[in-house]
Amino acid sequence: MSTNKSLIRKSRINPITYASLSSDKFHDECGVCGVYGHPEASNLTYLGLHALQHRGQEGAGICSSDRRQLYIEKSMGLVTDIFSEKRLKRIPGDMAIGHNRYSTAGASSLKNVQPIMVNYSLGALAIAHNGNLVNAVELRTELESQGAIFQSTSDSEVVVHMIASSRAGNLYERLIDTMRKISGAFSILLMTENEMIAMRDPYGFRPLSIGIHDGAYVVASETCAFDLIGATYQRDVEPGEMVIINRDGLKSIKPCTSSRQARCIFEFIYFARPDSNIYGNLNVDAMRKEFGRQLAREFPVDADIVIPVPDSGVPAAIGYAKESNIDFDFGLIRNHYVGRTFIEPRQNIRHFGVKIKLNPVRQLLQGKRVLVVDDSIVRGTTSKKIVKMIREGGAKEVHLRISSPPTIGPCFYGIDTPTRKELIASTHSIEEIKKYITADTLQYMTIEGLLKVVPNPEHYCSACFDDNYPVFTRHDKVEQIELF
Ligand code: AMP
Repeated sequence: MSTNKSLIRKSRINPITYASLSSDKFHDECGVCGVYGHPEASNLTYLGLHALQHRGQEGAGICSSDRRQLYIEKSMGLVTDIFSEKRLKRIPGDMAIGHNRYSTAGASSLKNVQPIMVNYSLGALAIAHNGNLVNAVELRTELESQGAIFQSTSDSEVVVHMIASSRAGNLYERLIDTMRKISGAFSILLMTENEMIAMRDPYGFRPLSIGIHDGAYVVASETCAFDLIGATYQRDVEPGEMVIINRDGLKSIKPCTSSRQARCIFEFIYFARPDSNIYGNLNVDAMRKEFGRQLAREFPVDADIVIPVPDSGVPAAIGYAKESNIDFDFGLIRNHYVGRTFIEPRQNIRHFGVKIKLNPVRQLLQGKRVLVVDDSIVRGTTSKKIVKMIREGGAKEVHLRISSPPTIGPCFYGIDTPTRKELIASTHSIEEIKKYITADTLQYMTIEGLLKVVPNPEHYCSACFDDNYPVFTRHDKVEQIELF
């Protein structure tokens, strides 16, 4: 165990800007939404992106088609700040695809905001990608050696170059060719002047669903986008499937197969919205509550009150409280207006840390044995501050329960995680972490418990918890990606 001091030094991370400070690698924790065959396509896509805002806050864009040409509007910032009525009017037509991008370091990130729109030998095309390609570096090097010039550091641009430089004849053949060469996680929406195409990698890492609204097709990362638009869920884009939507309706091709599926289990734990149904219509909120119940069965505690770390820990805390018959309440109140780029005032009133975001309800905590539930610990900095805050709020004891197993490995498939050595659970035992965060007790859900709750657990990737990487199994390859 490192000393507390060295741990603090190592993790001098302000949780508010946590994501923007993580390492310099591809970051593609994103959301996509597209509409085909509706006169209000851009407006509906805008609403869909707004519902998917949690999947990325760095920037957003929408590309539309009026069947003659493509139009694009994209900027840094939040969806509602980017798109004014005037701007939405500049993206006309009955087809549109949109993208939300996750926060990254660096000032030149506008280049990485999607959709990417290009003209190539077969016409115009736009692409919006959620996921992370694990062979993007190799493919990019190869393409550059053949003369390709890249404008961004996004792995999605590699896909565009693959399509443009493919020797296959028509667009479909080029897409099949590309799908078979790219490796890793991709839930992609692509658009030409006349059709919208959805593609999902053969492992099915990231979710992608198809809905119908007013006779128009809607494709989105999560079904919470359908709810806002008023679309009805039809089905998922299957792993390895390419869905072509045009005037002839919807056509399916299955260019890729895989010996296993590897849906990201972390979508259930933290990333997806609880009101979404993903991976064949499984409800995220219900799953999180079950995680909480399982956690209570595995690690019960004598406590007076169960409180969540809002918002990520709420459903699991409800599940924990129900299973253990302990009162549930909101002992920490979250300020929802903290932007990701919040600037703390300088000098004597700075270093608010987590207080900017959370405040304890003293009347609820005073003299109590408090059981607090969160979904995960990454570096441990947030948990440490939260335990301290609950104690200062008057709690007699603070017990922390985490509704996922210890996060020991980074994700190479699209969840933004720091490098392995920055993940506290990769270098410290649960007992050491407990001491560091100063909790009376700390327990994580076991991997066995997690896989017991999820139906068909063999279809999931849980590499961040068990180091079992579905695409790269060789450690040196994993490290190579991490270093990029
Ligand atoms: P930390 O202080 O680094 O341990 O952060 C833990 C908190 O980060 C937990 O409350 C999680 O809900 C949240 N979290 C987990 N994974 C991510 C992620 N990929 N991006 C942003 N926040 C995350």
